[in-house]
Amino acid sequence: MSRPLLFLDVDGPLNPYAAKPEKRPDGYTTLRVPQDSGTPEEHGELSRRRRPLRVWLKPEHGRDLLQLDYELCWATTWMADANRWIAPALGLPELPFVDFGDALFQDRPDGVHWKTAPLVEYANGRPFAWVDDEQSDLDQAYVTAHHRARGLLHHVNPRIGLREYDFWTLADFARSLGTSQANG
Ligand SMILES: [Mg+2]
Repeated sequence: MSRPLLFLDVDGPLNPYAAKPEKRPDGYTTLRVPQDSGTPEEHGELSRRRRPLRVWLKPEHGRDLLQLDYELCWATTWMADANRWIAPALGLPELPFVDFGDALFQDRPDGVHWKTAPLVEYANGRPFAWVDDEQSDLDQAYVTAHHRARGLLHHVNPRIGLREYDFWTLADFARSLGTSQANG
């Protein structure tokens, strides 16, 4: 049986961008990404456009993600840039990413997040977990209605980022699918 997909957002789960700006969270390193590299500016301000984007990353997260029994996949506005900037800092290999195309940042009238339909389409009936800081009940309802397999929408607080509890939850979900034989 193939492993479930783990759709990974960057800003929020891996980069706790909403944490107090004057203090870098424990265990995190600071990455400064040039803004003129084409990197999307999800949470920046126009007036700061030319300043490097500050990204906090916890190298341990790479190891913890690789130990999960999932196939990792970027689900982030960084898209291909996640492999250029984020993966190396976390010790992750180059990963597939969801290309959001015209859906990128396009709010929907029904309130469903613009990532949700492309993720369901990408999964194409495969079980998945989606780690993000922006899902709502509308997204859960959309997944329930449109996805033929199980889908876990796991919310992460962008002031805190991924914690041990989140990894337990993800491991439990994979185990509940009966696909965790290789784990541990
Ligand atoms: Mg986010």
